[in-house]
Parts: sequence; C-alpha cells; structure tokens
Amino acid sequence: MKLTGGCLCGDITFEVNGEPLRMAQCHCDDCRKITGTGHNVQAFFKRDDITISGTPATHQSRSDAGTTRTRYFCPNCGSRLFTENSATPGGMGIAAGAFEDSTWFDPQAILYAAKRSEWDPIDPNKKCFDAMPV
Ligand SMILES: [Zn+2]
Ligand SMILES: [Zn+2]
Repeated sequence: MKLTGGCLCGDITFEVNGEPLRMAQCHCDDCRKITGTGHNVQAFFKRDDITISGTPATHQSRSDAGTTRTRYFCPNCGSRLFTENSATPGGMGIAAGAFEDSTWFDPQAILYAAKRSEWDPIDPNKKCFDAMPV
C-alpha cells in the first residue's frame, strides 16, 4: 500500500510504502489534551516504511507504563502527525486524519474506553479496553 499525507500548511509531508501493523483509537487523558477533542486515531507502521519531508517539532511525555512518547507536529501550523514510543522502537504511529485518503482506516481496538468523555460516543461493535491492553 502506498499512502501520502501531510500537515495543514504543507510544510511537512510524508509517504508510506507498507501495510499498517495496527490501528487504534485512544481516549486517554493525554490523547484528549493533544487533540483538543475526545480521542486520537492512529495507524502504526514500520518506521522504515515511512519517508518524512520537512522538519517536524517534537514533544516528549511519559506514558502510564513509564515509557517515553515522542510526538511530532508541524512547528508552523501545529498539525499533529507522528508518534513514537520507546517501548516499540522501529515503529511509528501516524494520525489517521493526516492522510490524503484515509478510507482504509479502521481501528481494531478502542483504548482507554473507561476515560471516554460523555459527548464522544464509541462504536459498540469495536473491541474496547478500559486502559492500555498488556
Ligand atoms: Zn504545517
Ligand atoms: Zn491515548
């Protein structure tokens, strides 16, 4: 699968040549804050399958499991694009909405469903986890 995408202003673009390893929707407090809405949706790929053009800014935070999350965003327009986790080196998450065409996206799991905001409904047919499955 060949996929392309980028930020709102176009300073940062990316191309993926490969299949998503997994796809998830997360309702944790961090994802609520960074998105400014109810949840975050990401597809995870092998880092080697992703080519990034432009220079994203980064922010690091600690996950509940004590690992380091690095989030990449456009320093010009603020669009969130990529996420890395020290627990899964060699992998990278890409925000589903950043792709030019995301019709293929279909999250297999809903994470931190217990943290869901009342105003952010969940598809009842999806597999839900109260927190992060281990
Ligand atoms: Zn931008
Ligand atoms: Zn989350």
